[in-house]
Amino acid sequence: MEDSQKLPLFHESGIYHFNDSNTVFIDPVRVLNRSYNRFTISPSTYYPRFFESRTLTPKNPISTTVSSSPTKRKRKKRKRSSKDSRPLNDREQIALQRHQELRPLLLKAHECLLKSNGLLDALRSLRSENVSHCLKEECEGSEQCFVELGQQSPDLVVTLNLRIRDSDKDLEDSPNVYCEQRSILPAFNNLVANDTEDDAVADILNNHYIMPRESCFYMSDLGQIRNLIPAHTDCGFNLIMVDPPWENASAHQKSRYPTLPNRYFLSLPIKQLTHTEGALVALWVTNREKLRSFVEKELFAAWGVSYAASFHWLKVKANGSLISDLDLFHHRPYESLILGYSPGKVKNSDNQTKFKPLKDDHVIMSIPGDYSRKPPIADLLQEYIPGVKPPRCVELFAREVMAGWVAWGNEPLHFQDSRYFVKK
Ligand code: SAM
Repeated sequence: MEDSQKLPLFHESGIYHFNDSNTVFIDPVRVLNRSYNRFTISPSTYYPRFFESRTLTPKNPISTTVSSSPTKRKRKKRKRSSKDSRPLNDREQIALQRHQELRPLLLKAHECLLKSNGLLDALRSLRSENVSHCLKEECEGSEQCFVELGQQSPDLVVTLNLRIRDSDKDLEDSPNVYCEQRSILPAFNNLVANDTEDDAVADILNNHYIMPRESCFYMSDLGQIRNLIPAHTDCGFNLIMVDPPWENASAHQKSRYPTLPNRYFLSLPIKQLTHTEGALVALWVTNREKLRSFVEKELFAAWGVSYAASFHWLKVKANGSLISDLDLFHHRPYESLILGYSPGKVKNSDNQTKFKPLKDDHVIMSIPGDYSRKPPIADLLQEYIPGVKPPRCVELFAREVMAGWVAWGNEPLHFQDSRYFVKK
């Protein structure tokens, strides 16, 4: 397909497929905005690192701490180079070999992007697009810390404001086709659902959170995750996305959310969350070799998941360049998504669950958003998700709520704060 045909599709869907490869570029803002009717996420709030010098940024500790001064950057680089001069240990050798094997695929993907002038122009124009950032009053006031609130005020309530379409009335004939419905529900340890086809607004204390159509959240600590297990496996999930709070040495990460030792993830009830017809499990991992070997040797086995493939998320800047040197040992400009299948109860005559094979050659490129925020890639996984259509999807350790999904974690409303949205 020619660029002239692909660009309009990209503007509509947020996804650009490069010819003859399993490489895509995605704009998370466009992808997510497909799920909202009355609100939009603006590029200036999704990409704070990209916009911070030019626009009003939300009063948000995240966006102010992301940029590091040139002196700090120099200090970091020096540290790394002195470390790099010592011989690599066994684990680092394995990590290097893994990187060397992946390198040609990533370079090829990046080359595709650099050759797509139309797409690069579209990325550059992100700055001028929708610079009407979030309403100032929405950005003032402090962001709510749900982790603390959950501990201090577990009985807090959420007021859910839904707009329900009156199916007897015609949209063109009557201006009052919607009626408002308000419910007051426990905010924690409770499944809160917007089961309408419109955006809903959830109010907690004085803050507003935008929920896309047909979405749910369950806000709790890991101790309560079992409440998500359905009574019948027919109501289980076909796609289980997991982005655990892995421990690492970064103080930066520690200031953003609490982390957990690996052993806690072994008991995630993946089997019990799986739909009768099986589930595709998609797990985000960092590049630490210790973590990769934990996932490959212990975690998937504990979950009863069979490894299928790894996809790679290559992070680029708005000018198309990589966010860091591809070969920088401790700061690779990519992360991986490890995919596996969790068998359901439906088996074929050989007592095997039938799943579509996956290959290791998928590269997803995007401009990274806020710290540790992953791009919305469900569209790219659709063809591999087993069972019912549309599939039932859950995200574990979520910080945002997506249309058609259940979001679980101790702060699933974090990026739903109205400060990240503008009214249409
Ligand atoms: N996927 C998310 C995104 O794209 O923005 C990032 C998830 S982040 C890596 C991990 C999340 O797990 C954080 O929101 C953190 O607060 C949450 N978390 C940490 N400890 C938890 C616990 N004990 N119970 C539930 N969630 C926890």
